[in-house]
Amino acid sequence: MEIIHVSAECYPVAKAGGLGDVVGALPKYQNKLGHVAKVVMPMYRTKFLYDNLWDVHGKGARYLGDRQFDYTIIKERTNKLGYDLYLVDINGLLDREKIYGYEDDVERFTAFQVAVVDWLNKWQHKPDVVHCHDSHTGLIPFMMKYCYSFSYALASVATVITVHNAEYQGWMGWNKKNYIPHFDDWKIGMLEWQNTINPLASGIKCADKVTTVSRSYMDELRQSANGLENLFEYERGKCVGILNGIDAEVWNPATDHYIEHNYSFEDIKEGKEANKQVLCEQFNLDITKPLIVFIGRLVGEKAADILPDSILASVYGMQANVCFLILGSGDPHVEWQLTNMINHFPGNYNAVIGYNEKLSHQMYAGADFLLMPSRVEPCGLNQMYAMRYSTVPIVRSTGGLKDTVIDMGDEDGYGIRFNHASVGDIIYSIGRAVNVYKEDETLQQMRTRMMAVDNSWDNSAQQYIDVYPIINNQLTND
Ligand code: ADP
Repeated sequence: MEIIHVSAECYPVAKAGGLGDVVGALPKYQNKLGHVAKVVMPMYRTKFLYDNLWDVHGKGARYLGDRQFDYTIIKERTNKLGYDLYLVDINGLLDREKIYGYEDDVERFTAFQVAVVDWLNKWQHKPDVVHCHDSHTGLIPFMMKYCYSFSYALASVATVITVHNAEYQGWMGWNKKNYIPHFDDWKIGMLEWQNTINPLASGIKCADKVTTVSRSYMDELRQSANGLENLFEYERGKCVGILNGIDAEVWNPATDHYIEHNYSFEDIKEGKEANKQVLCEQFNLDITKPLIVFIGRLVGEKAADILPDSILASVYGMQANVCFLILGSGDPHVEWQLTNMINHFPGNYNAVIGYNEKLSHQMYAGADFLLMPSRVEPCGLNQMYAMRYSTVPIVRSTGGLKDTVIDMGDEDGYGIRFNHASVGDIIYSIGRAVNVYKEDETLQQMRTRMMAVDNSWDNSAQQYIDVYPIINNQLTND
């Protein structure tokens, strides 16, 4: 089966969060299963672009409203990532340093989608599945099915959209309708949700199959999906929750080049201690105390706004018998609060504001606990990375966190779970962490147990494959 993944992110080319990790790994594992999976994404000005060799694979020109744009598709020459990687170069729109956050993001990603569909339309053969990821690719199923210039060749190609995060939907005003190549106006309802063009909603309506990144998140979306609840309810027949996996080759404490001391099942305790020492020296933290880390976007979804109060209350409440290290960026006020606290608790607290891949790996390896109080967590990869590195996850019971972490009070448990994204629940859970840290035998048991859990893509990649043929059968039967 030939599968084309279309995404705004793909690790190690460009990553802002979990989407990049998933699109970077899933195709590799699908190829291992004997399929042909490829990735197409925008060409940003990233290190990966300059460090690798590229061949021109295609060129074209299209309109975005009244504005004509040229695009070039380049292909990575050596199959370095274990799958064919194509980048879409659109001069002046996509070739920027950051992935998101520009005023013209709507124009950038709409042009990207038009270029991808135009390119696919010119292929001599057709792929079996076009697999879209999140709102930046949400208009593709509509374009393939209903735009006059594409539907003849592409309407019969199966489409899947994976919702990694329903909070961001890519809303655009009707004044931008002419960005989308000509289509029958009767189909306008397939673009619309609550009086705007809503690319994510359009993807959900038009794709043959909709997946989200955990079963619990799929259930939760019918109650809370930033306005799309009824749509998820209406389309539930074609929705499936498939838990993300982790790339067990990239995230392996035995071989990870980012960490100072490699370790495996046999020397978990020594390995973690050596890595903790590196962190404690670098960030002036007391190595004798349990080290709790947070890694992630400092936004409301991750409950970052209650981190400062929770840390403050925990350090005071536990007579400074606990240490915290934070890595993240996001809400400027939270960044300011977290930075301000550094001088208040020397030896117990530190924070790095920004994005740092290497440091994140060192933190997974050196920490005793990883805190994730998320209000919304579609799947969450951090807790799975933590488990792979034998770091006890302290998580709120929501979405994928609920599906992957078993509380230490339950049979075969290895984590700490709580119910509310509140300072009270966090302090209570940190109390449990501090207590278990004192019981070395229990802690080592939990560490061994969680490291043995297989969260790799081997399992989930097959589940995606199982979803695809159903679509093909449906199409053939129609
Ligand atoms: P998200 O909602 O942000 O996609 P996930 O848990 O699915 O959350 O994925 C987060 C990914 O991003 C993980 O690989 C995590 O290590 C990484 N990450 C998040 N923030 C940072 C940061 N500031 N520095 C380095 N890596 C980060």
